[in-house]
Formats: sequence, structure tokens, C-alpha cells
Amino acid sequence: MVEPVLKHRWPENYKDAVRLQERLRSRLVIEDRTGEVRIVAGADVSYDKGSDYYHAAVVALKFPEMETIEETHASGKARFPYIPGLLAFREGPIVIKALRKLKSRPDVLMIDGHGVAHPRGFGVASHIGVLTGIPSVGCAKTVLVGEFRGPGTKRGSTSPLIYKNIEVGRALRTKEKVKPVFVSAGHMISLDRACEIALGCCTKYRLPEPTRRAHILVNKVRRGTLTTGISASRIALTPCPSPEGRGVKETCHSERSEESALLNIYNSLLAHYGPQRWWPGETPFEVMVGAILTQNTSWTNVEKAISNLKRSDSLSAEAINAMPEARLAELIKPSGYFNIKATRLKSFIKYFIENYGGKIEKMRKRGPAQIRNELLSVTGIGPETADSIMLYALEMPVFVVDAYTKRIFSRHGFFPPDSDYHVVQRFFMDSLPEDVKLYNEYHALIVRLAKDRCIKKAGQCELCILGGGMHKVQ
Ligand code: SF4
Repeated sequence: MVEPVLKHRWPENYKDAVRLQERLRSRLVIEDRTGEVRIVAGADVSYDKGSDYYHAAVVALKFPEMETIEETHASGKARFPYIPGLLAFREGPIVIKALRKLKSRPDVLMIDGHGVAHPRGFGVASHIGVLTGIPSVGCAKTVLVGEFRGPGTKRGSTSPLIYKNIEVGRALRTKEKVKPVFVSAGHMISLDRACEIALGCCTKYRLPEPTRRAHILVNKVRRGTLTTGISASRIALTPCPSPEGRGVKETCHSERSEESALLNIYNSLLAHYGPQRWWPGETPFEVMVGAILTQNTSWTNVEKAISNLKRSDSLSAEAINAMPEARLAELIKPSGYFNIKATRLKSFIKYFIENYGGKIEKMRKRGPAQIRNELLSVTGIGPETADSIMLYALEMPVFVVDAYTKRIFSRHGFFPPDSDYHVVQRFFMDSLPEDVKLYNEYHALIVRLAKDRCIKKAGQCELCILGGGMHKVQ
């Protein structure tokens, strides 16, 4: 577990940031306190194109074997602009958020940035080290301050990085005839030891494995190509308490403000509209069928199709499996695209019977990540349908995202309107407590709000429960 040993509010302007940086510098320890190093964790950050929405990934590896033992990530919105020398104030909050999700405690943190090789001797690697109380190393691809002569061409060669006549870091050749990296001590480590560990983490690439793997991971997170990591643990939460009520400690301003904002919105919607009692289906099986039929049509049409299935005594996995596809298409005709949907429903039922004997209970015993991968491999099941089945039929803690979610929350400036499904999903799941009932009700309330006030053409903000200043539209 990486719980910060020092907490502060993240400043939002240049003057306050520099003042805090100078104050924190007095806590810096530039001597080796690493002891035996068994785990090194690397961190990296990536931004959505043209936006302040960003992601951090942390990868913990066994040292010196360089076997990955744990990966975490977090997403959010940067509150501080990019100013050279103040990177920690932009990226620190999201890195801390990802670090706090680690179950293991690293012996050394490796940050893609600088430690004391910095205009005020306190770069992002030093800042993260001081906040976490873990020895930290800055390992950057480029120089921020100082001058150096190229080190020898052999792997392991170094040359001093000099700033104001002091050696603040070293250029380290990690691979023969390849550009060096720039290593500096972050916190609780000497420069010699920092270089030794950085080199020990390099295999066949220029960059040390911890930051290299964190870089790969964070790009997957940003592109939404990472399978959503979903744990099956649950938190009882009815009704949704305020953040204070759950005893959330303030460790990171942006993390806290996102969580608070989302819970405030949820509580306002719940108080205004009341519980929506989703999903409208009598059995989990009916919910699964409804989730497939509701693609590109209104729920009223789905209800007619389901009534037809019920009337003909066909609303079961066995009956649909045995039925000719043309007959199924006829029964579900009111839901539109009935030929395509008949094929999709048949494919899903085949998967359901072949893998789980048509038994919901058997399906519920599988891990959410596996179920999601399986569902996504069934013809015609995309992320929204898969997640609807998982949340509403299988009661797994996964947040369902739809066009309404993107519309409402992008209008409030949480993310761009064209954000990727998984980016939006991660935003909610990283910011909200993991709770099936909360996810269930929240999604239903979003749909209600979108149909009631936040219509496609333009939101009726003056009449909307979220239009009263507390949730100001940007
Ligand atoms: S109608 Fe206006 S205030 Fe209401 S959710 Fe939409 S954008 Fe927000």
C-alpha cells in the first residue's frame, strides 16, 4: 500500500506552487536510505489529445528480475497548466492516485522526470518521493537544467550533469551507442545508488523497465485498449452517503473534487427523481434479452417484443435456442432491426448455453473481467450491451456508459463529448465507490435526466435540477 505520509492541497497558481515547492524542499533527504531493494515501481502519465483529461499508470516490478508484479492506473482532469519546472503540480495528483491503488509497497519509485536536477532542486521525482516517503529516482529522456558531456559509448558509462557548478545528476548510457537517459536522485537515495538501480532496471531497451512498462500501460489506458480491471468486492451504499460520511481522507484535490462532484450530482438526481428501479425486467434472463433488443430503439418497442416472446412461451434460453431464426425475428419485430437482432440473440443464447448451460448462477460465479471478454466476443455485443448485462442481470460492479452519459457530463466539462467509452467508464469507476446499487441507480438517473431536461439539441438548463449553480455548466 502506498498511502502518502504527507498531504497538502494542490495549488492552482504559479506563485503558490513555487512557494510550496520551496517549502517541501526542506524535507528532501539526499542520502541513501534504500536498504535492500526488491520492488521498483515506475510511473508515467499520458494526456488525451487536445484535452486536460489525463491518465497515470504505475507498474511494480521485482528487482533485479524485472518481472511485473502489479499494475495500477488512474484517470482524471489536470487542474494545473503545463509550466516547465512545475510538472509535479500538474501530474503529481494523478500519479499519487494511481500509486495509492498499489497493494505492494515499492522499495524505490522511478519517475519519468527529474529529481534534484531541477531549477529549484525539487522536481517531480523528489516531490512524489517526499509525499510518499519512498526513495525515489528521476529518470528523464531529456535535460531540464545543467550541462553534460556525452558519456562513453559502452552500456553503464556515465558523465556528470552539472548545474550551477554542482553535479545534480548523470547522463547514463543504458544501451550501447544509444542516447543516454538522465538520472537524478529524487528523495532518500544517493546519486550513485540511483544510477545503479536505473541501470539494473535496464534490459535491452534504452529506458528502464519500470518507466518503460508504465509508459506502455498508460498509453493502453488512454486509448481504451486495456481490459477494464474489475474486482468483485462490493461496498454497501444505499442511499449514497456524502464523501465526508464515508470518512474519505483528503489526499489529492482533483481526486476528491471529482468524487465529490459525482456524488453531489447523484444525490441531487436521486432526491429529485427518486429511485428508478432499473432494470425494467421480471427476471435476469429477461434483462439480458432486453439489453440486446434495446440497441437502437426505444424501451416501449422492446417491451412489445418481450411481450410477444412471453405470449408465445418463448422467453427462455432453451426456447430461443430451439426456435428457427425466422420465427424469432417475427416475434421481436417491434424492436426494429429484427433480422439482425434475431441473429445476435441466437449467438448470445448459444454462448450462454454452451458455456453456462443457460444458468445465470453459473455465469455469476465467473470473474467480471472474464465475463466481459466473453460477452464482447459474442456477435453484436458491444461494450454498452455487455456492461448492461453484467450490471443489471449479473449484478457485477461495472458502470454502464451511454450517449446520455457522455452528453450530460461533457456539457459539465468532465470530459470531451467524443471521449472513448472506456475512458468515460474509467472516469466514473475511478471516482466513485465500487457499488452495484450505486452504479445501477446512477445510470438509470442519467437516462431519466437526459430524456427529461438534457435533450440532444440543447439542455433546458434553467429548468434542470443540475442548472442551479452548484453544478455549473462550463
Ligand atoms: S440540462 Fe443543462 S444543467 Fe441540466 S444536465 Fe443538461 S447541461 Fe446540465
